[in-house]
Amino acid sequence: MTSFVATAAEEINIYSYRQAFLIEPVVDAFTQETGVKVNVVFAKKGLAERLKREGEFGPADLVLTTDISRLIELVDKDLSQPVNSDVIETNIPAQYRDPEDHWFALTLRVRNLYTDKALGDLSDISYEALADDAYKGKICTRSGKHPYNVALVASMIAHHGEAKTKEWLQGVKDNLARRPQGNDRAQVKAVKEGLCSIALGNSYYYGKMLKDEKQKVWAEAVNINFPNQKDRGAHVNVSGMVLTKYAPNKDNAIALMEYLSSDEAQEIYAAVNMEYPVKPGVKNSDLVDSWGKFEADPLALETIAKNRGVALKLLDEVKFDL
Ligand code: FE
Repeated sequence: MTSFVATAAEEINIYSYRQAFLIEPVVDAFTQETGVKVNVVFAKKGLAERLKREGEFGPADLVLTTDISRLIELVDKDLSQPVNSDVIETNIPAQYRDPEDHWFALTLRVRNLYTDKALGDLSDISYEALADDAYKGKICTRSGKHPYNVALVASMIAHHGEAKTKEWLQGVKDNLARRPQGNDRAQVKAVKEGLCSIALGNSYYYGKMLKDEKQKVWAEAVNINFPNQKDRGAHVNVSGMVLTKYAPNKDNAIALMEYLSSDEAQEIYAAVNMEYPVKPGVKNSDLVDSWGKFEADPLALETIAKNRGVALKLLDEVKFDL
């Protein structure tokens, strides 16, 4: 019986909203260094429900997610536990982790504005400008209620307050070239096809399009702009990690969490999805570097998470998706 427990303890089970190929290079490196086996269960949705259902006898130690809202969801549903680690605290800036130590960001992605090359240099563009009359009928975006856009609206609320953000949102809606639809890449495709000239989209999709034979021409039709470089910086969202409430392999899981915050793992993990490491000073991939430097909005993710409800309400009030 004892030996069974000892063997079991040399494994870690990850539930992941991130695709396995994004995680494999970094967990393989961890396994090589420690000898601890890492199993990854991937799911597109429903992991919070699954954790709830499995309760204290579930196998999951760690959850890896994209988007701050999915991290917070796990905490709000009481599916997480705090991790007090000096290593993680040193590696991950306070802006990018829970003040209560339940969630930690691992990589950053920018919400960029992709603009038709025909519009010329718009590197000074801001999110606020999306409501300008000059851009009437020129903007494409996916659903306003997609977590990526909800987080952006939540950041606008933090900076401008509810009333001003509602006005802005109405202005953006009035400037849309078409009803919100499709994913981020579909908006850049629409620019290429002449349907609009400004598209909202996450930074790593630029890299994904450039690496895709068919989608390359979409990316080549646009400039990638980092918004609000003249003032507060570009809105960033994160991928991150949470230790589950009943993690059966807690010590090893924390060792993996610490590893994921290290220079070595940060470089691998960010590069594989063409994202930015959260740990300051870690090198970006050459491709990501080629998009240029930018300043990130220093707003705490915690604040963005808190404003999500109001953001969704405003999106409803202006009927953004209709
Ligand atoms: Fe994405």
